[in-house]
Amino acid sequence: MNQKPKKSLYRYYMIIIAVILCLNFIVAPLIRSSRIETTAYSDFLDAIEEKQVENVQIENQEVFYTLKEDNKTYETGLMNDPDLVNRLEDAQATFTQVVSDTVNPFVYYLLTLLLPLIVFFWLGRRTFKKIQDKTGNESMSFGQSGFGFGNLGKSNVKVYEGNKTGTTFKDVAGQNEAKESLKEIVDFLNDPQKYKSIGARMPKGALLVGPPGTGKTLLAKAVAGEAGVPFFSISGSEFVEMFVGRGAAKVRDLFKQAREKAPCIVFIDEIDTIGKKRDGAGLTGNDEREQTLNQLLAEMDGFDGSDGVVLLAATNRPETLDPALTRPGRFDRQIPVELPDLTGREAILRLHAKKVKCSPEIDFNMVARASAGASGADLANMVNEAALRAVRDGRKSVVQKDLEEAIEVVIAGEQKKGTTISNKERMIVAYHEIGHALVAAKCQNTAPVHKITIIPRTKGALGYTMQVEQDEQYLISKEDAYHRLMIYTGGRCAEELIFNTITTGASNDIEQATKLARGMITRYGMSENFGMMALETVNNAYLGGDTSLQCSNDTAAKIDDEVISLIKKAHDEAYQILSENKMKLHELAKYLYEKETITGEEFMEILNRPACLPDVKS
Ligand code: ADP
Ligand code: MG
Ligand code: ZN
Repeated sequence: MNQKPKKSLYRYYMIIIAVILCLNFIVAPLIRSSRIETTAYSDFLDAIEEKQVENVQIENQEVFYTLKEDNKTYETGLMNDPDLVNRLEDAQATFTQVVSDTVNPFVYYLLTLLLPLIVFFWLGRRTFKKIQDKTGNESMSFGQSGFGFGNLGKSNVKVYEGNKTGTTFKDVAGQNEAKESLKEIVDFLNDPQKYKSIGARMPKGALLVGPPGTGKTLLAKAVAGEAGVPFFSISGSEFVEMFVGRGAAKVRDLFKQAREKAPCIVFIDEIDTIGKKRDGAGLTGNDEREQTLNQLLAEMDGFDGSDGVVLLAATNRPETLDPALTRPGRFDRQIPVELPDLTGREAILRLHAKKVKCSPEIDFNMVARASAGASGADLANMVNEAALRAVRDGRKSVVQKDLEEAIEVVIAGEQKKGTTISNKERMIVAYHEIGHALVAAKCQNTAPVHKITIIPRTKGALGYTMQVEQDEQYLISKEDAYHRLMIYTGGRCAEELIFNTITTGASNDIEQATKLARGMITRYGMSENFGMMALETVNNAYLGGDTSLQCSNDTAAKIDDEVISLIKKAHDEAYQILSENKMKLHELAKYLYEKETITGEEFMEILNRPACLPDVKS
């Protein structure tokens, strides 16, 4: 656990004690002495003669007395005066002798002089530390001068001991391969002898790679929870400092601490912030980052498995990492933490659904099928959205409908309740959506339509058609891809066919269709003209998948031509399907227009029943 809070509490008490001591030994005597007037012994005797003395207190070799006329206290030195008692009796004064333990003058000076000095010195040191923590400047070099300011460059690393994170592998659903890999490391640390007796070397490090929200940080926390060894956790960005050399110092310190506590695990989250490829351009000067990385590489070489320090790291940009970092011997293992598949999604949904009250008849499999491409974080979010919706609707538990709505919220945004769309526009949207759905239904091997709605959403969609795959699809054939293109274009086709005009409503379809068509040609080798030539490379597999073209301008122009003709072909074919089924298109669109939301079953039922003659509008 983090040691800091304890320390600062301790300091807090120290300050209070120091202040009290200060008051006692410095301020109090000062106040006292200001009220006491020193007088001559003769004055004291005179006062007795005049019967002015009221009260006398003899303390050690000093006489404190008060007079009747004023409230002041006077002080004078005691003389050898055996007659004093009689005289005081005559003067009718009250008098006592106080015998206090004489304070050893050495102790007295120690307390009044040395203690404040120590307190001030200590306070100064504290302030210095604070400043130094803010600026992070090691080159202030006060540290070397023997004042004991030794922890410059300390990393703000979190140390967990035992099961302090409260997370275990049970909290991670799916990701079985990743868990398997990590379990081995945990096992190694818990019982190294088992491995050593065979001669197996402990892996030095493991790198968790995958898209955001897939549970990399969660997995690392689970490792911390499972391992019976200390777990150092730090984020890559915490190494990045304003001053050159400080990041490297932090790395050094981290590994020093780790080695002292071995066997242990060191986890660096978002390692790409320090592990980026070093570029040759020395003058652009990212010296600080390079130094930090170099230090990290050096530290990784400095220990081997037998030290019992295992390095874990996570990133969603493995392609930006310096090759030196990912070579075997540094991060021996790359553990992919991919987006969850169907079973994974279902497991994650079930896990998070345990935290909320759910009605027993929820079909998690269906929800998982409908949320293809969602990450673990998305799914956790969905369950929460569903719970919020249940509360909003005054239900005691989450029902299937809530979850389905939550998927739509995550995909398309909230329902826009207040917007009033003209009937004409709603009609167009209805035809557009039915256009998609009808083409989908007429193409083979496409996912069945699950739901169609023309309720507008906050993310801009005026309506949408939700298709849910029966099973997870890992491979998409050329035909499947082409069918998808047809479905994308189907909406626009319906507008053209029925209203003889086109609207902006298809902008997202166009974007998707273009992306898919380009991918088919440049990356999947699905075009006859280019064949299996890679024309584009993906820059970052896990973040959005940007691509960059790798071909001559001539080829680029040819690609564009091909994309155009491919989409055109899909469009024409979709148009063909719709014009052949114009009656059904009218019938379905009218039904959707009235109902606003229809299910896949309703859709299929109308589609499959013998055509009746609807009151056609146009
Ligand atoms: P990242 O891969 O970006 O580090 P996180 O580990 O931070 O993702 O995951 C974010 C959240 O998503 C977690 O706190 C958890 O609630 C949820 N989550 C992600 N993956 C899973 C999973 N496999 N099982 C359960 N919850 C998950
Ligand atoms: Mg993370
Ligand atoms: Zn559309």
